[in-house]
Amino acid sequence: MKWQPIPTIKSEQIDDLFKSLYGVDRKTSIVNRTCVSCEAEVSEEGFRDEVSLREFHISGLCQVCQDKVFGYDDCMEK
Ligand SMILES: [Zn+2]
Repeated sequence: MKWQPIPTIKSEQIDDLFKSLYGVDRKTSIVNRTCVSCEAEVSEEGFRDEVSLREFHISGLCQVCQDKVFGYDDCMEK
């Protein structure tokens, strides 16, 4: 079964912000299963847990980029 992510609904302003930040459309990236930041292909198995997977549907960031943005190493390992 193929994983088909469905982007969460965000306000127009947030979508515009993402577009100007990353130069790609958040929803398009999510549906195409690519990361909005590094453009890597993402897979369902590539996410550490449900929370990270859910975050992809919101921000369109892959696991690696989520770790960078949210500072996984800094705050989770303590
Ligand atoms: Zn990424």
